[in-house]
Amino acid sequence: MKIDHLGIAVESLETALKFYAQGLQLPVTCEEVVEDQGVKVAMLPVGESRIELLEATRPDSPIAKFIAKRGPGIHHICLNVPDVAAALAELKAQGFQLIDEKPRPGADHCLVAFVHPKSTHGVLIELSQKMQE
Ligand code: ZN
Repeated sequence: MKIDHLGIAVESLETALKFYAQGLQLPVTCEEVVEDQGVKVAMLPVGESRIELLEATRPDSPIAKFIAKRGPGIHHICLNVPDVAAALAELKAQGFQLIDEKPRPGADHCLVAFVHPKSTHGVLIELSQKMQE
């Protein structure tokens, strides 16, 4: 397992990239909209992990709600696992609370699922698995 990425909720990707891409000079490897989650995503590799910047595309998006409640900032930590469905089943069997019962498509050709912060001591944890291309 490794940390695949840190998700950061931002009000505007364009403005955030002025710091992360121009200021820190990190490359942007992927920019895409994940319709299902109502987010526009930019991925910036840092060593073997990445920073994921997340901008809401609609007011009912989880990112819009997060920013309205707490302001911009770290939104989740994503761990790379070999098999998201198996990891979910294992966590569920141990009585941990899930947000997603099943993996769903995420950004950059990944299958993802979220574990509820109630079970992770206040941190939203995303599990991710690279899909075959
Ligand atoms: Zn993520």
